[in-house]
Amino acid sequence: MLTLEHMTMTEFKKHLGRTKTVVFPFGTVEEHGSHLPLYTDSLIIVEALKAVGQKRKFFLAPVLPYGVCTSTKDHPGTLSISAGTLRRIATDLVIEGYKKGLKNFLLVSGHGGSLHMSALKESAERLADVIGDLRIAVMNPYDLLWKELSELSETANDSHAGELETSMVLYLSPELVKGRADEEYPNFPRTVIVKDKVKRWPGGVWGDPRKATANKGRKAVALIADKITEVLGELEKRR
Ligand SMILES: [Zn+2]
Repeated sequence: MLTLEHMTMTEFKKHLGRTKTVVFPFGTVEEHGSHLPLYTDSLIIVEALKAVGQKRKFFLAPVLPYGVCTSTKDHPGTLSISAGTLRRIATDLVIEGYKKGLKNFLLVSGHGGSLHMSALKESAERLADVIGDLRIAVMNPYDLLWKELSELSETANDSHAGELETSMVLYLSPELVKGRADEEYPNFPRTVIVKDKVKRWPGGVWGDPRKATANKGRKAVALIADKITEVLGELEKRR
């Protein structure tokens, strides 16, 4: 496990001889219902990455705990940043890593928001354009594992703070789960941007947290870890 934040510069130099891959995890400080911590997205992605790090050698950078939140941005506790800020941070971090000798970059997000993901993707596209021998991938497990994760959940339309996210926090840190919020879904129109988001989605839950179990959480985290491992394999394949 090559945890960047625990490493000395001497150790960094030594490990650079063995891997040129770094993973940057991205999370949020975002409401996750009345029952899950604001740190849920960061917790899940960092723990999944620790599992991957048991089997593969890569530098694991500290999580960026802030992300771009749209539907939840007005809910209590959410601290969102703008897409422009996220683009600049992601771009700066990759350039810094490249200057220090890293070549393969995985930006992996525990948050699947579309603006958040497009900011990361835009940064990656631009970096790949201007840095010749850089390899970069951007992912969030929910987009890539949509089918597998829906098979795991009993709720048909499970998402934010619902059955699976609750299951994963139950598995990873049960002491952080404060009861169970009720089943709920946002009531947003498909096109018009509404300003009364909290009124239309008071509980901030998308799915049914009452169906959560630690065992489903264990399976979901394992699926996520396997998918990240697969993406790393692809990223490190140089032609
Ligand atoms: Zn989440």
